[in-house]
Amino acid sequence: MRLSRYFLPILKETPKEAEIVSHRLMLRAGMVRQEAAGIYAWLPLGHRVLKKVEQIVREEQNRAGAIELLMPTIQAADLWRESGRYDDYGKEMLRIQDRHERDMLFGPTNEEMITEIFRAYVRSYKDLPLNLYHIQWKFRDEVRPRFGVMRSREFLMKDAYSFDLDQESARRSYNKMFVAYLRTFARLGLKAIPMAADSGPIGGDMSHEFIILAKTGESEVFCDRALLDLPIPGEDTDFDGDLSPIVNEWLGSYAATDEKHDPAKFEADIPEDRRISARGIEVGHIFYFGTKYSEPMKAVVAGPDGTEKPVHMGSYGIGPSRLVAAIIEASHDDAGIIWPQSVAPFDVGLINLKSGDAATDGTCEDLYAKLTAAGLDVLYDDTAERAGSKFATAELIGLPWQLVVGPKGLAEGSVELKNRATGEKQSLSVDSALARLI
Ligand code: ATP
Ligand code: MG
Ligand code: MG
Ligand code: MG
Repeated sequence: MRLSRYFLPILKETPKEAEIVSHRLMLRAGMVRQEAAGIYAWLPLGHRVLKKVEQIVREEQNRAGAIELLMPTIQAADLWRESGRYDDYGKEMLRIQDRHERDMLFGPTNEEMITEIFRAYVRSYKDLPLNLYHIQWKFRDEVRPRFGVMRSREFLMKDAYSFDLDQESARRSYNKMFVAYLRTFARLGLKAIPMAADSGPIGGDMSHEFIILAKTGESEVFCDRALLDLPIPGEDTDFDGDLSPIVNEWLGSYAATDEKHDPAKFEADIPEDRRISARGIEVGHIFYFGTKYSEPMKAVVAGPDGTEKPVHMGSYGIGPSRLVAAIIEASHDDAGIIWPQSVAPFDVGLINLKSGDAATDGTCEDLYAKLTAAGLDVLYDDTAERAGSKFATAELIGLPWQLVVGPKGLAEGSVELKNRATGEKQSLSVDSALARLI
């Protein structure tokens, strides 16, 4: 992509309304724009990152055996009357009437709808276990939308729903999602710690929140430092095998959100130097809630003996839009964002220090063509801006590599390759710079 033809509305000034660094940087880097309180447009740069996050989430859901579908954003109120949640959900639910005065709503979550789909088609234990997920916009009329896309009213969620014949099998489904989440957050360059959590209005008795430690986090959390160094299950993990040793290793160390915190146990079990008491960002949440929805909504399956029983369910959420902000909270410096390779909007920023100079333009065009042909996403700054401003933009948008080409270097046959994360700069020949990147 040539910057001269791209849409990257960088802000020179720091927006006053943004209280936390990720919100400031997302606005300055032209990633999002607020269209109404807690409602954002994703501009091209932000959209690229969001799609990358979404894709990693999708790959790990698929790896764990979950199956993607897509449910609508608008739901019929009657579905929620069946579960009893239409009245319980309160003001966070955006209620709408259509032209026939039928009560509708913008889905804040999809337990009811997925239960309706399940009961329409599945009758036998032979079709279980089953896990269905979608990645879809949700709306929650948050009392205090803030921090940009961290707590917005419209936000993207991956929500998966598992169906099992009994609790034991539901536990296995829960473990699959638990391990998939560990892998997902690690691939996003994050250390997310599963913590015992309250299940809130979704209900249920087994529940973990995945939390990223961050000063700006809204949750108060407590955990054993040892959790920060536990290994992440590899790509070769057998999701059909027994995952309980992995899950038990993670659940073996203390980790709890404030609702579940037990100060006496925390102090008795963990040596002082390992006690972390900090703030955190909830990026994922998994629940087992048994027959809470299947019972009132009559989603039943026949077991091996022919008797019908309500199916056991769990639900598993991740917020890709919140994650974009959380990744920035975890990875930035004074100059801007530092994207982990896996979600970077482009792989390389190619900086032409003197557009219009024949030799510089020629080398840049050649590098741009070769890097692109090798499958890399390149943002080529071919604009007429000053060098200083080009560097500032490159630092702000935080691409993993900056490849800087100018007439001075070229006279000596060299270009400069800078690693955004380490700040390390190397003077290299054009060929070795290419070899380094490809
Ligand atoms: P919170 O405690 O932050 O309000 P929640 O517990 O209400 O979140 P869940 O119902 O568990 O959220 O939803 C699953 C995931 O969806 C959360 O872990 C989070 O990543 C994301 N999410 C929830 N609410 C929002 C929001 N207002 N803005 C952005 N992402 C959100
Ligand atoms: Mg909430
Ligand atoms: Mg919560
Ligand atoms: Mg939650």
